[in-house]
Formats: sequence, C-alpha cells, structure tokens
Amino acid sequence: MPPLHTDDWLRQAIGLIEADYQRSADTHLIPLPLPGFAQHGIDLYLKDESTHPTGSLKHRLARSLFLYALCNGWVRQGFTIVEASSGSTAVSEAYFARLLGLPFIAVMAQNTSPEKIAQITFYGGRCHLVESAQAVYGAAQNLALETGGHYMDQFTYAERATDWRGNNNIAQSMFSQMARERHPIPRWVVVGAGTGGTSATIGRYIRYQRHATQMCVADPTGSVFGQYHRTGNAALTAAGSRIEGIGRPRVEPSFIRTLVDRMCETRWPPCAACLPCWAAK
Ligand SMILES: *Cc1c(COP(=O)(O)O)cnc(C)c1O
Repeated sequence: MPPLHTDDWLRQAIGLIEADYQRSADTHLIPLPLPGFAQHGIDLYLKDESTHPTGSLKHRLARSLFLYALCNGWVRQGFTIVEASSGSTAVSEAYFARLLGLPFIAVMAQNTSPEKIAQITFYGGRCHLVESAQAVYGAAQNLALETGGHYMDQFTYAERATDWRGNNNIAQSMFSQMARERHPIPRWVVVGAGTGGTSATIGRYIRYQRHATQMCVADPTGSVFGQYHRTGNAALTAAGSRIEGIGRPRVEPSFIRTLVDRMCETRWPPCAACLPCWAAK
C-alpha cells in the first residue's frame, strides 16, 4: 500500500467528506417558549440534530469517525466498514460509506426498528442482526476480521474523534447560536448519552471556555451509565434501555464520567435530586 500522504484514494476520500461538509448547513437551535418558566428567568432551547441530510442524529459523529479513521490510515480503498449500532449511527455511516464507495455492514440487535433497517439499506448498507444489544460488539469485530475491513467502534472513538475545542462541534455551534439571547451562557446543558461522545465534547468545551455552565446527562431505565456515574465501577453491566440511541448495557470507553455534573436517571427509588419531581406526580 502507498504511504498515506501519496495515497490518491485517501486524499480524494477526505476531500469528498470535506466538500460534503462545506455544502451542509448547521442544525437549528429552537426556543421553546414556556411562559411559566420564562417569568422565573428560565428559557429552554432544543438543539435539533435531526435536520442533517440523513435525518439521523448521528451525522456529526459519523463524519468525525470517518475522518478520524481515514487520517489514522485505518481505512483504505475497498475496505468494508463495520459498525456496532442501535441504528442511528449506522444510518449516517452508511451515508458516508456510500459517499466514499465503501461497502458497509451495520451490526444491530434484532429488535432494531424496521424504519432504521430500511434507512440503512436505502443508503446501500447491509444489516447484520444479532440476538441482543450486548452481542453487537463482538459480532462487529468478527465481521471486520472476516472481511479484512475496519470496525469503526463508535463506542470507543466517539469521545476522541471530535475536535472538542472547536471546529464547529455541537457545543461550539450551540454556544454561538445562543450569543444574542437574553442569557447567552446557559446555566445547564441537558443531553442523553449513547456513546458518551456528545456529553464529552460539550463537557470539555464548557471547561475550556471557562463557562459557568453545568451539564446534566439524562439516563433511561436499563442504562448502565447512571450506576457507573455514582460508583465509578467500569465493570458494571445492565440490560440496555428500550430507548433507541441511548442507554447502553456496558460502560463504554467513550463515556467520560468526570465531565458529567449530574445524571438524571429514570430509576426506582429515585435519587434525592429527583424526589421533588416524583412527589409532585
Ligand atoms: C446519540 C444520541 C444522543 C447523544 O449520544 P452520544 O452517542 O453520547 O453522542 C442523544 N440522544 C439520542 C436520542 C441519541 O440517539
């Protein structure tokens, strides 16, 4: 294989992703007017990550993972791209694999929604279904070995594939979109965690910018992250949640616990911070 810097295919592949990015618009930050909250000085905004070309929330992640793998020399012409996914990341990765002319295989649990499977197939990807959410990692690794391809491994690399200091990452995008609001520096950012990548980017960016903002990660029932956040035990496992895209069965390397100021878990009995909410129901 030619060295990285003279590999024409590689140069072209990176160029294709950069051109795709150049043509793309940012996602909206939508204010949600809540008069009862606003009179107490609280404004709520929703970052709508669904307005990317694939309609998947994982478009930014997929772009970063491809660029990271290409620039590391992990992906060359003709390589099969394999990913373990609960669906959304695979949709966006199928999009980028097709852009580069690479075969793509999504390894997912068999209860993945037919819509997700249809979207992946639409972008030319193949779906390899396994029994459970816990089985996706090993199956993806094996398929990559068998095909001589590359296991993208979002659950390891999401946290490091994104430029957390800037380069229009999701945090920089949100903070610049807030610039002309009455409270331009949010008190809290609330985010769900799938890989942990988004919370890692936002958490680091906040610290780097020395903002007073804190970050809360919402964690659904069945996810292991809440328990991990409380205990620090990385060997913990859980069933995995029923919410598509978030709530993992194992502690992912990409989830950086020290960046999370607060976990909001849907669990019973509720944690002390959530008790007032439960009592009000
Ligand atoms: C992916 C995803 C997130 C963010 O998760 P990370 O993988 O940690 O970046 C949040 N909410 C939903 C519904 C998602 O699918």
